[in-house]
Amino acid sequence: MSTNTVIAIDGYSSCGKSTLAKALARKLHFIYIDSGAMYRAVTLYFLREKINLHDHAAVEQALKNIHLNFNSRDYQSHITLNDEEVSEEIRQMPVSDNVSAVAAIREVRHEMVRQQQRMGRSKNIVMDGRDIGTTVFPDAQLKIFMTADPNVRAERRYKELVIKDPNITLEDVFENIAHRDYQDTTREESPLVRAKDAIILDNTNLSPDEQLQFALDKLSALLEP
Ligand code: C5P
Repeated sequence: MSTNTVIAIDGYSSCGKSTLAKALARKLHFIYIDSGAMYRAVTLYFLREKINLHDHAAVEQALKNIHLNFNSRDYQSHITLNDEEVSEEIRQMPVSDNVSAVAAIREVRHEMVRQQQRMGRSKNIVMDGRDIGTTVFPDAQLKIFMTADPNVRAERRYKELVIKDPNITLEDVFENIAHRDYQDTTREESPLVRAKDAIILDNTNLSPDEQLQFALDKLSALLEP
């Protein structure tokens, strides 16, 4: 029987999932895995190689040519795509605008889920995404489903992005988030949905420290003998 602990954090776009996941990993000395970064890196590859998303053979071949790796040393999500560090580029709008379409492709999801399950085997991990508590780790000890007011989410993400891209507008960010939420919740293959046993965390009015404390309290309650 496996004795490792898995914390699954799912929720809408730009809800602060990775902020909470990184803080938990740091506090508990768990490994943090940003599953969204994997879908983003695949999207970057597809954009660069101009892969036709409807061409199943081309998608499958592309997936064979993609090698992803995380450097989780510092609890950030530094990811390499075929040995190239792409952590910055995958956060830019071209990837954000296309990632949900790529993430809806069955072959892409199967391959990412397979890799995610392998990474989590026999290790203590915190993984954030859209289908972690439902599909990747349905037996996770703690499942959190995050949500927040869409305007608050857009403002938080805009503040992060505008530092690197002064041309970006709050409207662009709001639209991207709304569009991704729509695509992620309505796709056929493991759509974003709250697992029945996931605890809802609305962080509209919570600070990062408060949300961390919320999760730590839930975890200790669950793990208590
Ligand atoms: O978490 P992040 O916003 O970076 O994820 C980018 C996109 O990747 C999401 O909008 C979603 O389309 C996809 N994704 C997914 N399943 C996951 C993680 C991310 O479909 N587990």
